[in-house]
Amino acid sequence: MRNRGLALTLSEAVLVQRRALLLRAVVDPSGCDGCASCAAICPAEAIAVASVARVHPDKCIACGQCVTSCARAAIRLASFHLSAQVPP
Ligand code: SF4
Ligand code: SF4
Repeated sequence: MRNRGLALTLSEAVLVQRRALLLRAVVDPSGCDGCASCAAICPAEAIAVASVARVHPDKCIACGQCVTSCARAAIRLASFHLSAQVPP
């Protein structure tokens, strides 16, 4: 799925909805250099970057675009229950 804002096909929207029930993006602060590539590509504006990126779990739709955008592999999709333990 390429970055096209929120313009999704029906099948893409169903996939995103199903994933969003189970997954959220999670940042490994030790690997993040704060480049903000993930925030720039996020269609849900769910990522804020200060010194490192932070994901707002209520906004994340688990599309995975941030994961593929990160050259440092510092952001991944994880179980919602695990990601809920990461401070916002
Ligand atoms: S793209 Fe990766 S390294 Fe850059 S701010 Fe996001 S998580 Fe951090
Ligand atoms: S998975 Fe998608 S919605 Fe969630 S933070 Fe990454 S780019 Fe944004």
